[in-house]
Amino acid sequence: MAIIQCPVCHQRISSLAKVCQHCGAGLGEMTPEKRRQMAAYRHKRQSELAKKVSLVALAVTFAGALTWWFEAGTGWQWPPSTTAVTLLAVGLGLYLVGRGWLLWLHLTRSTVKRLL
Ligand SMILES: [Zn+2]
Repeated sequence: MAIIQCPVCHQRISSLAKVCQHCGAGLGEMTPEKRRQMAAYRHKRQSELAKKVSLVALAVTFAGALTWWFEAGTGWQWPPSTTAVTLLAVGLGLYLVGRGWLLWLHLTRSTVKRLL
């Protein structure tokens, strides 16, 4: 079983549902192939979003490193400013979220393939 999007209301529903629990749209006429395509499409969209989050996180981390380097004059002086620490912390945190999300998608992908 996988979580797919209802084609009518776009809420999250089970791929095995015959009727959408949110809007009542009948899904029984959907072929297993169509359900598989919808699950694959949703998975691809989420993977792309997770990669974008990771990229933005790297840019923020890089901005934090540059801020730390340039604001004190010469190189990385200790302690870094609050701005640099904030940018680095947010960037690294966001990066971990993005990579964790990708890992989770990768792990659930094999489950989706097995169960569909
Ligand atoms: Zn629906």
